[in-house]
Amino acid sequence: MRKRGSKPPAAIAAILGLVGAVALICSCNTAGPAKAERRAPDFDGQSAYRYLEKQCSFGPRPPGSQAHSQTKGYLVSELSKFADSVEELPCEAVYDGARYEFTNILAHFVPGAKKRVILAAHWDTRPVADQEIDPEKAKKPILGANDGASGVAILLELARMFKTKQPPVGVDILLTDGEDLGEFEKGGFCFGSKAFAKDLKGDEWEYGILLDMVGEKGVKIPKEGHSETEAPKVVEKVWSVGRELGHGSVFVDEYQRPIYDDHVAFLGKGIPMIDLIDFDYAYWHTLDDTPDKCSAESLKAVGEVVAEVIYREQPGG
Ligand SMILES: [Zn+2]
Repeated sequence: MRKRGSKPPAAIAAILGLVGAVALICSCNTAGPAKAERRAPDFDGQSAYRYLEKQCSFGPRPPGSQAHSQTKGYLVSELSKFADSVEELPCEAVYDGARYEFTNILAHFVPGAKKRVILAAHWDTRPVADQEIDPEKAKKPILGANDGASGVAILLELARMFKTKQPPVGVDILLTDGEDLGEFEKGGFCFGSKAFAKDLKGDEWEYGILLDMVGEKGVKIPKEGHSETEAPKVVEKVWSVGRELGHGSVFVDEYQRPIYDDHVAFLGKGIPMIDLIDFDYAYWHTLDDTPDKCSAESLKAVGEVVAEVIYREQPGG
């Protein structure tokens, strides 16, 4: 027995110190907001960023260009490594007096599952940099690192994840073509998704998530208008996981105007698809939409939230 106030021997002091340190570490892990149990495997943001760079390495990818056709080959071969099956779905449209050929790419995971979710992003890039002030620059096609490649990059990385751990529900990844072509007033945009959705019955998927411009450094995603009014439960599902995983600064609690994007064709068929889209990308439709404006961290934040949403689903038949 020691007298009160006497110093413990050095060895005991060290042990007490160690116990204290362990207690401190434990309390750090358990204190603060309760951490949700993660069901999804880790999302590799660096790998997603390499997918973004790879797409950009082909150059601008507007429909009809050589880079567009090379990119299609690359995407089909990459998805084929991970999916149960991959379909190339050609379609065409006449716009402004010209005929265009498009190809939607559809990859299936867990084909036997009746309960299914669809994830989508456009793989084409805009043929003109219409937000450039210089009229010569405005005629050139954009590289589309964020506007195009970022959403596809996340979906490719998710495809790779689905191969390593089977999701609890069926998932289909749709890469749409001809999203970023033409002018709204003349009936442009979203050619691939319009053609794809034309013959849908509306019960093919429980819900959908569209990713468009999700890779900007410090990305912020507000609640887009159509998503909030027509698919509010899906918005809440994604935003609540976003908050739980500590990405409240990415999935911000703000509302934005409706955007005409690929989800509109699905909403028209009664399929609740939300649009994860950045409203304040400074390089939107300019020649400066390049990989250096994007980051692995942003891709990871968005990718891991979408992954967690999928892996938390309950299998349904
Ligand atoms: Zn665009």
